Amino acid sequence: MSYSSWFQAHGEKHKKIIEKLMHLSDDELIEYFRFDNMVQNEPDFCPLYAKNKKCHDNEELNCYFCACPNFRFKDDGFKQQEERTLFSICGINSKDGSQYISDDAIHQNCAGCFVPHSEAYIKKHFSRDWFEAMSKVNKY
Ligand code: SF4
Repeated sequence: MSYSSWFQAHGEKHKKIIEKLMHLSDDELIEYFRFDNMVQNEPDFCPLYAKNKKCHDNEELNCYFCACPNFRFKDDGFKQQEERTLFSICGINSKDGSQYISDDAIHQNCAGCFVPHSEAYIKKHFSRDWFEAMSKVNKY
C-alpha cells in the first residue's frame, strides 16, 4: 500500500468515528481518542490495537492526530539525495524526529516524537475534519 492509499483510508476511518460521535463536545471527542479507549471501542482504527501495542511508549498517547499534521510525504519522492530518494520530511523539523535511511530511500522517522499525540497539541490545532487538519501533509 502506498502512503497516499493509507492516508486516504485512515482519514475515512477517522471521519466515520467523528460522524458517529457528533453528540460529543470537542473535549469529549478528544478524550474518546485516548489509546486505552480506542483499543476497546475502535479495534479497526489501527493494526497495533489488536496487540494492545502503542506506537509511542507514553501513558498519555492520544490517537486523534495520527498520522501528524506536520508530516510531509510524496509517494514519488521529494528529491534525490545521491543514490537515495527522499520520500518524507518533518514540516517543523522536530528535534525528536530522525530518519530511516536504507540503500535507496530516506523516510522521516517519528518514533521518538510525541508532538501530535499530546492533548494540548490536539486542542490547539483541533478540527473535526481530519483531512482539513492534515491538509498540508500531502500538498506543498
Ligand atoms: S517528527 Fe514529530 S512533528 Fe515531525 S512529522 Fe514526525 S511526529 Fe510530526
